[in-house]
Amino acid sequence: MTTQRVMAIVGAGHVGGRAAQTLRETGWRGGIALIGTERHLPYERPSLSKGLLTGERAAAQCGLREPEAWREDDIEHVVATVQSFDPAARTLHLGDGRTIEYEALLLATGGHVRRLSIPGASEPGVQCLRTLDDAAAIGERLTPRSHIVVVGGGFIGLEVTASARALGCEVTVVEGGPRLMGRAVPAAIAASAQDLHARNGVTIRLNTAPRSFERRDDGTLAVRLEAGEVLNADSVIVGIGIEPADELARVAGLEVERGIVVDEALQTSARGVYAAGDVAVFPSRFGAHRIRQETWHNAETQARVAARNMLGARDAYRELPWFWSDQYDHQLQVAGEPMLGSRSIVRTLDSGAQIHFDQDGEGRLVGASGFGLASALAREMRLARMLVERGAPIGGAQLANPEVKLKSLL
Ligand code: ADP
Repeated sequence: MTTQRVMAIVGAGHVGGRAAQTLRETGWRGGIALIGTERHLPYERPSLSKGLLTGERAAAQCGLREPEAWREDDIEHVVATVQSFDPAARTLHLGDGRTIEYEALLLATGGHVRRLSIPGASEPGVQCLRTLDDAAAIGERLTPRSHIVVVGGGFIGLEVTASARALGCEVTVVEGGPRLMGRAVPAAIAASAQDLHARNGVTIRLNTAPRSFERRDDGTLAVRLEAGEVLNADSVIVGIGIEPADELARVAGLEVERGIVVDEALQTSARGVYAAGDVAVFPSRFGAHRIRQETWHNAETQARVAARNMLGARDAYRELPWFWSDQYDHQLQVAGEPMLGSRSIVRTLDSGAQIHFDQDGEGRLVGASGFGLASALAREMRLARMLVERGAPIGGAQLANPEVKLKSLL
């Protein structure tokens, strides 16, 4: 019996798009409904805080594939909001009243950008960065000599900062925590990144958060900080993280835990329903705990595994976590789960770049974090990633000694 049911994907971002493509490549001949609220075809996000802002890249170049590819693959891009789904009936209900019957479902809903809830937070000129449209709106405001206040010293905030400096803006970063990039980067690397931004003329305020934004008569914004200081801004960019968009799953009765809980095959607690990308909480390869990753690599690799499993495979997702952040001519890379380490070993390269290796209590390599000139770091970090991937115990002295080639330790 042939079925009319389609493969449904909620969320038409990087994960949704790559999964749709993989369904076709793996041989699915039925319908594919790729449902999202944005009018854009699936695009990749890394350029949004960098090349797209500086003008080095155009919006069209962020597309996951050429626009024709989606048509040629007969992937239906449905611009709509999904209201709910019923895992028992395998139906999906759209805001415009339509119902879609699905064969298998992928939840690739990503996250909602966190917003400040302080007076003035919805003033024009106070902006968040998550979508292509957000990036276009921010880009228009990054004019030479304009005063920009960046709230949040995480990856988005610092990449936007570097882009704004390249465009000749005056930038102040306001970070609530005691250091930059507190979520996922060793303290020593965060300190090097802070130096780099200071050398590039950025003012950094740590341990304080904005309390209010007030519009002045001259049209600028007064940014009042908890610490008492008042900053002058033409624009404010808020980069304080995302909240996983797990509400559809929660309402449908699936297991959620600040994100949608999946098994190693990326299947949720409901049969035939998968989740991948920023929203998925999945088993760590390092232990019994679960993790969630907001990275390009995670989106790219989970999309493919989830799509194959929607078609009946039982592939396990075993990728090593990995991400990078480009700031000025420097790059930061983190591989594995450095937070699991109990001992850190530093290797300083000729260029001054550093790689921090993290070992757990049993001497197993669980993470590597590198920071330095992008040109000097790439090759060494590729090898460092491979070492963490192997997880073999390696002597600290060898890891620390730049005379000992990482390649020889593989
Ligand atoms: P993103 O991916 O958006 O950069 P991160 O979690 O990497 O998200 O970084 C967000 C940063 O914002 C963190 O360093 C966090 O301490 C900081 N932050 C969160 N809330 C506030 C706030 N109200 N004011 C200033 N900084 C904040």
